[in-house]
Amino acid sequence: MDTSRRTFLATTGLAGLVPAGALPALRRRAADPFTLGVASGDPAPDGFVIWTRLAPRPLAADGHGGMGSADTDVEWQVAEDRAFARVVRSGRVRARHASAHSVHVEVTGLRPGAEYFYRFRAQGHLSPAGRSLTTPAPGAAPSMTFAAASCAYYEHGYFTAYRRMAEQHPDLIVHLGDYFYEDSAGDKPQAQPIIRRHVGGKCASLADYRLRHAQYKTDPDLQAAHAAAPWAVTWDDHEVENNWAGTTPGTKVPGFPARKKAAIRAYYEHMPLRASALRPNGELRLTRQVTWGDLAAFHILDTRQYRDDQPCEDGVRVGCDARLDARRVLLGAGQLRWLDAGLRGSRARWNVLAQQIFLAQRDHRLGPGAEMALDGWDGYTAERDRVLRGLAATRNPVVLTGDVHVAHANELRTDFDDPGSPRAGVELVATSISSDGDGYSDPVGGQLVRAENPHVTFIDQRRGYIFCRAAPDALRAEFRTVPYITRRGAPAATAATFTVPDGARTFDPR
Ligand code: FE
Ligand code: CA
Repeated sequence: MDTSRRTFLATTGLAGLVPAGALPALRRRAADPFTLGVASGDPAPDGFVIWTRLAPRPLAADGHGGMGSADTDVEWQVAEDRAFARVVRSGRVRARHASAHSVHVEVTGLRPGAEYFYRFRAQGHLSPAGRSLTTPAPGAAPSMTFAAASCAYYEHGYFTAYRRMAEQHPDLIVHLGDYFYEDSAGDKPQAQPIIRRHVGGKCASLADYRLRHAQYKTDPDLQAAHAAAPWAVTWDDHEVENNWAGTTPGTKVPGFPARKKAAIRAYYEHMPLRASALRPNGELRLTRQVTWGDLAAFHILDTRQYRDDQPCEDGVRVGCDARLDARRVLLGAGQLRWLDAGLRGSRARWNVLAQQIFLAQRDHRLGPGAEMALDGWDGYTAERDRVLRGLAATRNPVVLTGDVHVAHANELRTDFDDPGSPRAGVELVATSISSDGDGYSDPVGGQLVRAENPHVTFIDQRRGYIFCRAAPDALRAEFRTVPYITRRGAPAATAATFTVPDGARTFDPR
């Protein structure tokens, strides 16, 4: 028994439940249920959510992680120090079979702007400890750091970028979607080498989605990133199925309503979200704000659940007048109103939109004519115009984007075809953690893209993430890349750094 464990038992008064010292020779303790790590999220000035799930056999086919049908208790602790000498909150929560023995504790009563550590205990085992933070109180504006991540295809390689992100100890990790992929290499021809396999094929049942989440959560690099900082998550399409849109499936496979329902439930079960995210009508409410004192407001958007179907099918297309149709929605009326009100009412120096899909116009066709990706904002231009006008009236807007598996730094204007139109802000597009394999640095391709899209300032096709420092005078973004993911252990380096001075709405040219 190690010291930390003794401390936990002493401080929770549970020492009698597990014999101290050596266990009797013939008594066999249950297998370690903490194979999926721990996580925290949605920080507030007085607390955050802490999460774990009991799964002694994480890849059990029924999706229940080797747990029986009984509910069981889990103890939790929050301390001010890594050694858990100063425990400030603790309690007990029921891990229910109906929730795949996942637990979400909404910890309250903590001090604002402080670092904490948390852990769980169940079935005679102690979980790894995680680090989390409360946000500063309103009015405070200390500098902070955050990382942005997107698109982690397990089969395409290792999650080294998550590990390197954890090593930078950000105050917050923003996940922009494609946390996992619902399909498998066996389902379709793959352009990338398959480094490791998903268990099972395309997810359809609740058991399938739970099992896929569990498999991802067994990854030690992903566990390290969860344990390093609180996360604020939103999803893109693959958490449910490729290119789904509102009530419209992205594939021809029948049974989408049941898949979506199962995917939503499994996603909630595996993410550090508040219980209020699960609505009685079956909606998963991911639209929310995380504020960091008066320094930064993170406006977290859901660009899947409320949108109209993609116009002209889902691909990259020439033409397609439907994409310009003023009646078509992406955020939907309710979420758009929420965003407008949140931006107008924000006291924050930096207003960060956390969302999934490419906001800047992007012409994929080299030379005359234009070709647009219709699953992105280019497929919903009327609503994009509204969003851009709103950003142009907002203090220091910074849009975080995922989805395209290529890092970009974009200048946003209210009209991309008019370089004299008002500046709306900047867009930082995170490349993928692992989707599309090793990738490459592509200065020549980048120049070709920029010739068609002068507002694209930077492009890099390697894997990685974005690491940002927000301060009152400037926001600095480092595009971090790893040279390979098809082998373990790649180092990370900064491919480019962009600074946005306060009030500038553009990148500092120096
Ligand atoms: Fe993706
Ligand atoms: Ca063109």
